[in-house]
This record gives sequence, C-alpha cells and structure tokens, in this order.
Amino acid sequence: MFKELEGAVVLVTGGTRGIGRAIAESFKKAGAIVYITGTNRERTEAVAEEIGVNGVKMDVSNREEVKKVVNEIAEKEGKIDVLINNAGITRDTLFLRMKDEDWDAVIDTNLNGVYNVTRAVVPLMVKKKKGVIINISSVVGFTGNVGQVNYSATKSALVGFTKSLAKELGGRNIRVIAVAPGYITTDMTKAIPEKIKAELLKSIPLRREGEPREIADVCLFLASDMASYITGTTIHVNGGLF
Ligand code: NDP
Repeated sequence: MFKELEGAVVLVTGGTRGIGRAIAESFKKAGAIVYITGTNRERTEAVAEEIGVNGVKMDVSNREEVKKVVNEIAEKEGKIDVLINNAGITRDTLFLRMKDEDWDAVIDTNLNGVYNVTRAVVPLMVKKKKGVIINISSVVGFTGNVGQVNYSATKSALVGFTKSLAKELGGRNIRVIAVAPGYITTDMTKAIPEKIKAELLKSIPLRREGEPREIADVCLFLASDMASYITGTTIHVNGGLF
C-alpha cells in the first residue's frame, strides 16, 4: 500500500513492547528496514528476532550510547528515513510525594531521550534532504493528570519540540509530527486500577481503550507520502477522549 516505505530505514525507540512493537511490526509489513531499541540487549534481540526486524540495545537517556548506535546504523544502511521517538516511562505519584529521582528519570527518558536520538539522526536526514520524525506524546500532555506532573510535562514538551523543529527542518524536506495517544492497552496502562479504568472508559466516547495497532497505523500513514503536507502538528488518537 505504501510503496515509498519499501526499503525505508526506520528507527523505532522502545520497540520491545506495546506501541513501539506494534509500530515496528506495521513498518516491517510495509517492507521497511526496521530497527527497534530497548534498554536490555537480550530482550531487544529476542523481540527483534520474533518479529523479523533488527534489534539493538540503546538506552535513549544515554547520549553516548545513542550516538554510537545511530552511527552504526548509518554506516550499515547509509541513511535513516523515519525516526519514531516512542520510548517512554512513567513514575506516577502525587507531586507532594514525588522524589527527585521520579522527576529526573521521566525527564531523562521521555524528553532528554527524544533530544538525544533526534540530535543524532537529524544530520543524516539533512544530508539526504528527506526524513520524517514522529514523536509519541500523550493525551495527558494536553489534559494534565493527577499523579503525572512529571510525565505530562514531558509529553507537553514534545509538542513544542515538534512545532519548533518542524519550522527549522521544513525547508530541508523533513517533516516532524507528534502523535498523542489516549489510553492504549499496553504494560503502561495495565497498572491502572480496575475501578479507575471503569470510570475512565465512561469518558471515552468510543467506550474502550485503543489497541497499539491503532497508533501504529497512524504512524504508518504519517510517514507515508499520503501525509506529505502534514508537519509541525499533533495528531490525536484517543477515541474521542480529547
Ligand atoms: P510500554 O511500557 O509498554 O513500553 C515502553 C517501551 O519503551 C519498551 O519497549 C521499553 O523497552 C522502552 N523504553 C523505556 N525506557 C527506555 C529507554 N530509556 N531507552 C530505550 N527504550 C526504553 O509503553 P507503551 O507502549 O504504552 O508506550 C509507548 C509510548 O507511548 C510512550 O512514549 C508512552 O508515553 C506513550 N503513550 C502511551 C499511552 C498508553 O496508553 N499506553 C498513552 C499515551 C502515550 P525496555 O523496557 O525493553 O527497555
């Protein structure tokens, strides 16, 4: 369906589970050369083998490791066409109970991680005058959420990051887009207590959580030529929640 993605080199951070894994599977199906990353080498390689993509250990918060891995991919493939900044963590707690470590960990992965990987990849895209960068934000970056001051701050930050970078790179034929998922069934949302989940579902017009595939499909569309005039904006995928 998306001929232009055949042979495209796609880097998906945090592809071992959930949304990232679904994104990797979708791009693989479209004929792309996909790289997934994770913080644990064995787990990343095992998942990569299972879904037929390349798997590399790359902790997005480790700037030196990111530079090294991105260089290795560039040397092997000669380019990176699509970057999906998906890796993300939560350390949910009420602000008054928040430890410095809870704040730092979430900022380091969800915000500094996106900077680290994007900073390493953009020069390659500029050289080729071609690229798409998709940043996975979140509905809570727009609505806020009790217990998620740290997490929602990073997800709002990605919106500003996306808008500004899109302005800088538009002239180089590089599109930068944010995708803001609502509640998607993954390990991340498994932690939500059943009672809260039931209440939450009532506020979603489609009355259900989303599936990782429903985010992956949007990413595929955004990376394709069908979305060639979309940049600097956020696509909301949340069943009508926001
Ligand atoms: P999961 O917890 O299921 O998976 C997170 C992925 O990120 C794993 O593959 C994990 O790999 C990887 N990861 C975590 N930290 C790092 C790191 N430092 N370096 C590299 N990889 C890392 O999360 P989801 O699939 O639910 O979420 C994916 C993205 O979507 C996140 O950015 C999240 O904030 C966002 N999102 C999710 C929503 C949801 O409802 N699920 C809603 C809105 C946004 P490993 O553990 O193997 O290292």
